[in-house]
Amino acid sequence: MAYVITRLCVDCLDKGCVEVCPVECIYEPKEAAPPERPNMLYIHPIECINCGACEPECPWQAIFEDREVPDAFAADLELNARTKDEPKAYRVALPHRDEEGRLQPKHRPSADQVRANRLRWDEKP
Ligand code: SF4
Ligand code: SF4
Repeated sequence: MAYVITRLCVDCLDKGCVEVCPVECIYEPKEAAPPERPNMLYIHPIECINCGACEPECPWQAIFEDREVPDAFAADLELNARTKDEPKAYRVALPHRDEEGRLQPKHRPSADQVRANRLRWDEKP
């Protein structure tokens, strides 16, 4: 089992999830190339230790345990698995820091913004 980042993350990339991952198994594409590599983060399905620390950190509620991924995002399992199958196309995502190394404040969307983002991809949230 592993956790999965869904397309609810697309174009967010605030990387709040990255800060808490103990094994650095969250990746970003070296070059976004939709539809195979949308501009979002991905969890390596083998390296993930299934600790669950990232899931509550995601302000967009984009992270799910693999067996809990909603049907609307089922294809995202494959997108995450590409980090295993095409490792040269990805690099480990690092948290956003300022010039003095301090972590940047996390983006905090409102409940309405979270709902609207979900409706972009899933008509029946
Ligand atoms: S915290 Fe959520 S939305 Fe932000 S980069 Fe991580 S998975 Fe994407
Ligand atoms: S479940 Fe744990 S190991 Fe897996 S991506 Fe999230 S924080 Fe990292």
